[in-house]
Amino acid sequence: MKTSIATVSLSGTLGEKLEAIAAAKFDAVEIFENDLITFNGAPADVRRACAVLGLDIVTLQPFRDFEGMPPGRRERAMDRAERKFDVMQELGTDLLMICSNVAAESLGGIDRAAADLRELGERAAKRGLRIAFEALAWGRHINDYRDAWEAVRRADHPAVGLVLDSFHILARGTDLGAIRAIPGDRIFLVQLADAPLLQMDYLSWSRHFRNFPGQGELPVLDFMEALGTTDYDGALSLEIFNDQFRAGSARSLAVDGHRSLRFLLDQLAERTGKRQPGVPALPPRSQAKGVSFIEFSADDDDASRLEELLAGLGFRRAGRHRSKAVTRWSQGDINLVVNREKEGFAHSFNIVHGSAVCALGLAVDDAVATFQRATLLLDPPFRQAVGPGELDIPAVRGVGGSLVYFLDSTSALGRVWDIEFDDTGETGNDAGLTGVDHISQSMQYEEMLTWLLFYTSLLDLRKIPPQEVADPGGLVLSQVVESPDGGLRIVLNASQSQRTQSSRFLNELFGSGVQHIALATDDLVATVARLEQNGVRLLVIPENYYDDLEAKTDLPADQLAMLKAHNILYDREGNAEYLQVYTETYDQRFFFEIVQRRGYRGYGAANAPVRLAAQARLSADGTTLGV
Ligand code: MG
Ligand code: MG
Repeated sequence: MKTSIATVSLSGTLGEKLEAIAAAKFDAVEIFENDLITFNGAPADVRRACAVLGLDIVTLQPFRDFEGMPPGRRERAMDRAERKFDVMQELGTDLLMICSNVAAESLGGIDRAAADLRELGERAAKRGLRIAFEALAWGRHINDYRDAWEAVRRADHPAVGLVLDSFHILARGTDLGAIRAIPGDRIFLVQLADAPLLQMDYLSWSRHFRNFPGQGELPVLDFMEALGTTDYDGALSLEIFNDQFRAGSARSLAVDGHRSLRFLLDQLAERTGKRQPGVPALPPRSQAKGVSFIEFSADDDDASRLEELLAGLGFRRAGRHRSKAVTRWSQGDINLVVNREKEGFAHSFNIVHGSAVCALGLAVDDAVATFQRATLLLDPPFRQAVGPGELDIPAVRGVGGSLVYFLDSTSALGRVWDIEFDDTGETGNDAGLTGVDHISQSMQYEEMLTWLLFYTSLLDLRKIPPQEVADPGGLVLSQVVESPDGGLRIVLNASQSQRTQSSRFLNELFGSGVQHIALATDDLVATVARLEQNGVRLLVIPENYYDDLEAKTDLPADQLAMLKAHNILYDREGNAEYLQVYTETYDQRFFFEIVQRRGYRGYGAANAPVRLAAQARLSADGTTLGV
């Protein structure tokens, strides 16, 4: 199985694209004609560049408006193709990809299309070349792969084959059954793309919103399963037209692409019990049990203020690292680590980003296997020197250059606090916090699909449909990934507006990262009372919210008064209830949320605009007062 990607999928010049594709370890590339036309050099230079980079060229594409042309136009189409054959021979590829005709003057009829393909196939064969035919979802006469296959079948020529493109097939909801009847050696190319489900014409949907398999909602895996019943063993080529991708980093998108292919093939092997030859076997997706720890990097000043806040939230300083300026703060099952080291990863992170969350420790079933899977999914591993008496905790790079560590309870990693830390014996003012409920990460809009794929390919997390939340400065797109039992929940937030809280956070932090940490309690009212006693400043919720809540719910007056008195937000789904409070934002950087779930599965989306408006008001006040 050969992995490939079309140059149209990435940003940059052709040279930059090819380097990114090779660096992401693809075997091959589809050369998009426009990239060649705008390239400052001859096709032979592209051929040499690909040879140096170790990339095969699977096809030159696309050749448009060919089949079914009326007499006169038909001969011109053949001549055009001959010119492409010249280019292909210079380029060193033997396959021309032809997509079905959209021209108004084209004529229908499978036999006419077959005759055209046959004649062009004969011309191609004379030069040792081949042609492959694709049904565009918006083709004028041929827009269904079954018709394209019928034309190819009737052309009955060894140099004429079929292209199957998952987008064109799945977007129309075409039945996949007929794929099983196509001989694998008559399929010359398979193109893969996913997409979000959108209500729009096929052309716009395809040209702007395609994404990598696993990032959208099309049943690409069903397509792969049908394909797997043929003997097709040619290239699997990503062909993604996406505005964000074309604005993003070619290097990082190429890696995302290869990651998506490996994940797709892994899911296919899991579903069918059959592994493709040459495809690395990955350890299974890890069961994410929860958050083992959250690490903050802080300079000395910030560390003291942060630790004051943690103490106010009811954390006790439970441990001091044996050899480093690192403290462990704990409460319930929560571990927060404050790192004020003057060297190493946390320090360099602090220099770039200021005081912020620099690492997440995730509890998984098998840390080493998770790390192996991550490596095979091309997630960048992280290593730093391990001091005497320290554990080598497997880690990869996460959002915004932070780290994601993997810990399990079956190895020594499960005893990290005993091994690396001295118990302080100190007590705290416990506020009843029991665990990490969820973590929210803010990121650039363009990064969202990257991190969605990162989390869902590595860990057994499901994505729930994204939501748009109104911030006074614009809309914020919010995407949740969560483990089946809710042990790990991560909310990814992004916004195209520069004026949302989410975007301000990115500016403040010089990049993406953890914007808020939601901690769980079994009794929010008691917890809040404790926080108030401890002098923790909670986000003030406007009275109007409670008037609205009164109108929307049948909450008794005394309960409403209690929510209002303590700035508690409330949501309900059926009989399930959700209570939330927020701390004020720490240096405009991050904040804590305390939540109580009573059977509730969501994230209080209905309350999010109220919270965002309250935070916006505070941050605006801060500006005017010069605070
Ligand atoms: Mg295609
Ligand atoms: Mg929340």
